[in-house]
Amino acid sequence: EIAFYQDRFIEVDEPVIPIQERGHQFGDGIYEVIRVYNGVPFTMREHMERMEESAGLIRMELPYPAQEIERLALEALRRSDILEAEIYIQITRGIHIRQHHFPEPAASALSIIIKDARIVPEDKRMSGVDVITRDDVRWKLCYVKSLNLLPNVMAKQEAVEAGAQEALFVDNNVVKEGSSSNVFIVKDGIVKTHPATKGILHGITRRVVIDTAREAGIPLEETRFTTEELHEADEAFLTSTTMELLSIRQVDHHLLSESRLVTDRLFAAFQEKKEKERSNWH
Ligand code: PLP
Repeated sequence: EIAFYQDRFIEVDEPVIPIQERGHQFGDGIYEVIRVYNGVPFTMREHMERMEESAGLIRMELPYPAQEIERLALEALRRSDILEAEIYIQITRGIHIRQHHFPEPAASALSIIIKDARIVPEDKRMSGVDVITRDDVRWKLCYVKSLNLLPNVMAKQEAVEAGAQEALFVDNNVVKEGSSSNVFIVKDGIVKTHPATKGILHGITRRVVIDTAREAGIPLEETRFTTEELHEADEAFLTSTTMELLSIRQVDHHLLSESRLVTDRLFAAFQEKKEKERSNWH
C-alpha cells in the first residue's frame, strides 16, 4: 500500500490530515475509486472526467490539472507494486479555520491511496447476493460523487446486519441504486436501470454495461422501475467498480427466479471489454 497527500508520497498510515481539513470537518470534497486489473487501470479516462465534473458541481478547483492527478495516481500505483489494486482519489476544499463558506484563496487538497482490490469471492459470484431495500433519505444531488456518505454508510450497515450484500435506495417506491452500486433488472428480455438523473450516481460500470448491451443487441431501457417490478424480475444485478456485475439472488425476503441468461451474457461481454481496453492501454 502507498498513499499521496497534497504534494508527496507517504505511507498509508502516516498521520497527515490537519484537524481543520474540510473533508474531515464538512465532508467538503469528492472522490473516485478506480479498479486496476493486472497493473492496468480500467476506464481511467471516464473516472477522470467524472472527477472533473463532480469538482465543478461543488464549485471546487482541482489542486492539479486532471492529467497531473492521473499521472500521480499511476506513479503511486507503480510504487505500490500491487497488480490487483484499487486507486482511491479524494479531493477536498483543503485546510482552513472552520467556517462554512469557501476558504479564500482556494487551496484544495489531493489524497491518493493504492490498496489491494476487494475481489468478490467466487461462491458469491456464482450464488448471487441478497439485498435489502431502504427509504432514500439522501439529498437531491446524488450525481455528485461527494464525500458525504452518511446515508450510504447507515444503509450498508443495515444490509450487513441483515446478512445482505447491499441496501437499495427506494424513493416513492422507485428503485434508484444501491448504497455503493447501481441496480439493473431484466424482465421479458428487456434490461432496465434508473435513468441518469441528478438523483443517482452515474456509475462508470453502469455506463459500460449499457454500452455493452447496446453493442450486443440486448434491449435496454433507462427507465424507472418499482419495488414490485424488482421482486417480479426475471433477473437482477448490481454494478460497481469493485463488484463489476453481481447477480441478485434475494430482495428483502423475495427469492428471485434463478435465471441468469442476460446477466451472464452481459458479464461475459464486460470481461471482453476489460480485455480489449487492456490491450489498448499505452
Ligand atoms: N452508486 C453509488 C451511490 C456509488 O457509491 C457507486 C460507487 O461506489 C456506484 C453507484 C457505482 O459507481 P461505479 O460503477 O462508478 O463504481
